[in-house]
Amino acid sequence: MTRPSRVVIDKQALKHNLQRVREYAPKSKVMAIIKADAYGHGLARVAQTLNNADAFGVACLEEAEELRAANVKNTIVLLEGPHKSIDLSRIAELHLDVVVHNESQLEMLEQATLDKALQVWIKIDTGMHRLGFPIDKADEVLKRIKNCTNVKQTPKLMTHFATANEQANLLTKNQLKRFNLFCEELDYEKTMANSAAVINFPETHADWIRPGLMLYGVSPMKEGSASDHGLKPVMTLESEIISVQHLSKGDSVGYGATWCCPEDMPVGVIAAGYGDGFPRHAKSGTPILVNDVRCSLIGRASMDMLTVDLRNQPDAKIGDKVVLWGESLPIEEIAQYADTIPYELMCGVHKRLGFVERG
Ligand SMILES: *Cc1c(COP(=O)(O)O)cnc(C)c1O
Repeated sequence: MTRPSRVVIDKQALKHNLQRVREYAPKSKVMAIIKADAYGHGLARVAQTLNNADAFGVACLEEAEELRAANVKNTIVLLEGPHKSIDLSRIAELHLDVVVHNESQLEMLEQATLDKALQVWIKIDTGMHRLGFPIDKADEVLKRIKNCTNVKQTPKLMTHFATANEQANLLTKNQLKRFNLFCEELDYEKTMANSAAVINFPETHADWIRPGLMLYGVSPMKEGSASDHGLKPVMTLESEIISVQHLSKGDSVGYGATWCCPEDMPVGVIAAGYGDGFPRHAKSGTPILVNDVRCSLIGRASMDMLTVDLRNQPDAKIGDKVVLWGESLPIEEIAQYADTIPYELMCGVHKRLGFVERG
């Protein structure tokens, strides 16, 4: 890699965050959510670092294949369940657990001929209205699961919250109430909580929690950042200054000439852009660390380059270190400047970047 831009993954921070998660929910098992290439951090890398997680949750069979190929032995749950009936034999071979969330998956399971019974997690829709059986169908689903020889006779039960990051939103309490009412008499393991619920709603912890975002050291709340919850950022996006310009008052910077110098000033060029996953919609004023000092993005992000106001770092020179998010610069803040959420920024880091592990 000759390009100076890179992603640094702090494995120590990752382990610390899992520990922190366990402190939040000491009685629950942890299904670490590592879909979407572990939120951009590298699927196998994260699974191997968090090898004491009680299970991993992934979105699809390809991700599970990658984990098994990397010799990951933990329980793996396919969060969207099987997509096609021909996948089922492979799912059994790889010892994967499956979520079952709709009629068509139920039929697939009923009609399959498998060597081995699968562990299923029945997903109930309590108000998110995305995946899951409606509550009034759930009894019938349970009955059919009981009669299905392709699945183990102790299903687990799950639901997912729509608004757990908003402490005052009544929907979470309602979802919890509906789920509990349905589960009351059922002696099966249950799971509800994503990261936001782990932090905001201890009453939802149940047998299993399903944290994603917080493992990566990012706050799931609308306000504040990870350190408020004792979490440490895992991903740092770094680059370097590759040019410094001394511009005059009134000079415009970059495509569209959208930003003009209010005075004579130094402007730095950074070797990273939207082709690396930096959000093109980041506004002028988005903080960027140059030599650990806060400076501001100016003008439009280009594919491979960004321009930065160096008035706070007038002596900055070619080769100086730049941090775009991560350690000392919360990704939550960058997401706000780009009208998006940290999830999207992390998932969007491009594989053209070199990944470096630390810790
Ligand atoms: C992605 C996902 C999670 C994790 O959500 P976070 O907000 O990242 O903690 C939990 N459960 C399911 C079903 C998911 O799809």
